[in-house]
Amino acid sequence: MAELNPNRIIFDTAKKVYEGNLSKNDGINSLVMELNMNRGSAQMIIVQIFPKLLNGDQFTRTLSVDLFNSFLRFIFEDYGAERLKISLSALKLHIDYIKEKGDAKIKLRKIYLRYLNDLSVNDEPSIVDEIEQDEIANHLKHRTKSVLIDELKNSEISSSEKVTVNHKTYKRNNKIVALIKILRDFKCQICGQFILKRDGSKYIEAAHIVPKHKKGNEDPKNIILLCPNHHKEFDLGNCEITKHTYNEIKFNLNGNQYLLSLAID
Ligand SMILES: [Zn+2]
Repeated sequence: MAELNPNRIIFDTAKKVYEGNLSKNDGINSLVMELNMNRGSAQMIIVQIFPKLLNGDQFTRTLSVDLFNSFLRFIFEDYGAERLKISLSALKLHIDYIKEKGDAKIKLRKIYLRYLNDLSVNDEPSIVDEIEQDEIANHLKHRTKSVLIDELKNSEISSSEKVTVNHKTYKRNNKIVALIKILRDFKCQICGQFILKRDGSKYIEAAHIVPKHKKGNEDPKNIILLCPNHHKEFDLGNCEITKHTYNEIKFNLNGNQYLLSLAID
């Protein structure tokens, strides 16, 4: 079995205490025993920082930027976007507090802004969207192709912004992108590459042909799957689209001609 990330162990332990499934003392002892954590730090996380972060309250003691970053990610994964917003408001109060004390914590500010940005509309693939797409893809990837195509068509027709997959609510657009990723096999449509993640799944990015800020949507005819290199080249390079139909796109990118299929079946 893969070893759990220590940040995940800290989070899960604090979460059990927060939800009333473990006493404060047992939680603190478990962090001291399992992770060799200093008792004072374990106490500070379990009694002060974790519950205040989740409740949107100001806290004064601080954690490593890495641990805050993990906590925000896990809060989103386990509790969803609304709770992440509440936690970000607590983190903002904390950042303002330590700033008054002369601690700039530039990196922590950056992380705060990144998550905040992810909660609003943005052209870049966001962490929040990627987590949602991963979860949906994991749940749907073993279905047959015809079922996936039906799911995609139904999601496209739906006018609701939210969809439910495996009893959890997601942005409809993320379900559409997840389905396109499965149907196009998680490969860069220019070079065929993908990034293999630690957990064995594949990472690929969805690029909008007409960008979001120009009202481009998540329709399969507006999405191409690209590796991070080709995605940046597509967004920043000299790109001239010479043909764009329902089924294919032809473009000249930094001197190379490409013809990519936009079909899903
Ligand atoms: Zn590529």
